Amino acid sequence: ESLFQNIPLAEPDKIFHLTATYVQDKFPQKVNLGVGAYRDNDGNPWILPVVRKAEQIIINDPNTNHEYLQITGLPTFRTASAKLILGVDSPAIKENRVSTCQSISGTGANHLGFLFLSRFYRKDVPVLISNPTWVNHKDIVRSVGLEFREYAYYNPKTNGLDIDGFLEALNDAPNGSIVLLHACAHNPTGVDPSQEQWCKIADVIGAKNHFPFFDCAYQGFASGDLDKDAWAVRHFVQRGFELLICQSYSKNFGLYGQRAGCLTVVSKNADAAIKIESQLARLQRAEISNPPAYGARIVSLVLNDPQLHAEWVEDLRTMSYRIIEMRKQLYDKLIELRTPGTWNHILEQIGMFSYTGLRTSQVKVLIQKYHIYLTDNGRISMAGLSTKNIDYFAKSLDDVVR
Ligand code: PMP
Repeated sequence: ESLFQNIPLAEPDKIFHLTATYVQDKFPQKVNLGVGAYRDNDGNPWILPVVRKAEQIIINDPNTNHEYLQITGLPTFRTASAKLILGVDSPAIKENRVSTCQSISGTGANHLGFLFLSRFYRKDVPVLISNPTWVNHKDIVRSVGLEFREYAYYNPKTNGLDIDGFLEALNDAPNGSIVLLHACAHNPTGVDPSQEQWCKIADVIGAKNHFPFFDCAYQGFASGDLDKDAWAVRHFVQRGFELLICQSYSKNFGLYGQRAGCLTVVSKNADAAIKIESQLARLQRAEISNPPAYGARIVSLVLNDPQLHAEWVEDLRTMSYRIIEMRKQLYDKLIELRTPGTWNHILEQIGMFSYTGLRTSQVKVLIQKYHIYLTDNGRISMAGLSTKNIDYFAKSLDDVVR
């Protein structure tokens, strides 16, 4: 008998499990709307042209080698990453009060960020997370021994933001709580606060001395505009908050498997920033020693070269505009079919995901009868739709809500 005979069998990850079921399905018209990765109009993964170009440059460079990076990662990547989210003229950068550490993509940045706060901030306050949120947030928070509490976010009646419930929850939480915020393109709902609502959120966070923790997995991918998608983060920095930002280059560079990401901490002064960075390095050393080089090199090359940067922006528009176009087409088709219910939220929601408002029982029918795969909360990945399957999806959706 094994020492581990009596441990419970862990449930498989829902989304990865859904994809596995989709792959096994032999139905020719099957559709995968579960996966959180961009697909082109043929349903294939897309390597950004600028990434291909950067890869060639890196491979052909005689100075490229496979040595370790520094513990905190590639310096040119880290500085470019901080600039990308905070803005080129950021006073925080000029005043040297920014600490950055390369991470195992957005997931690793979240983990390192919460680990840092659990060691050097407080352990006696909860992490406030939106209801709902990215499936992994709860497990990451728990994994470093912090507790979480949910704040109201999504209003199923309007398929939009429950701003009153959100502000009330922030007010009711213990002073100094950590508040996990999605910088843009909220996953899974696709519902973001307006700029005016962000100001109100910042007011309450300030009044309650809460600590803002931004998770930014979709900069540039959400709207096609890098500055627009960074607005909320920059607004908080401008107001003088100390805060933490997780960046992922999975979506906006299509580098999912390369695990390129960054954790940035904005603090009050240069002295604190040096100490923070030194502690991030120590935590990182014990976890992974050194972050992976390949993806970071690609991102660094593109961000630091004006010509490649401009090409990247074009690629971002290709992805985000295709997704926005799919929203329009889906909306138009549902109106054309006179599908019961209101569907404005499909147009208003932003980023890769849309919360359709479908119930679990309806999702089941979509999967079993129509071979259309989506998570049971009714979330669809807009990137899984194309001009080739959108008619089929709209008709199937129409059928299940009737
Ligand atoms: N945060 C959010 C909100 C996300 O949606 C994702 C990607 N699904 C991530 C973090 C992290 O993804 P990755 O580790 O691939 O960067």
